[in-house]
Amino acid sequence: MDCPYCGKDMKYGKIYGVNGKGAFWLPGDSIPFHIVTHKNIDKSNGVALAKTTVGFIVTDNAVGYHCIGCKKIIIDVEEYIK
Ligand SMILES: [Zn+2]
Repeated sequence: MDCPYCGKDMKYGKIYGVNGKGAFWLPGDSIPFHIVTHKNIDKSNGVALAKTTVGFIVTDNAVGYHCIGCKKIIIDVEEYIK
């Protein structure tokens, strides 16, 4: 997917919840850790989506495309509202 802001290619990834304490985005399909800390997110080239993203990962997730340059994530919500 091309970024609608800058036109560059966006990275495929997924957004994961953390036991009601925030969420984060990780590139690709893999889940490299189960205990979530900002350090683990950074090591996996992920993006924390809350200041208090710490806890155990929730495996249900949504696909999101990340533009590293613009720092934007785009989610197609249609498949998650059924
Ligand atoms: Zn962009």
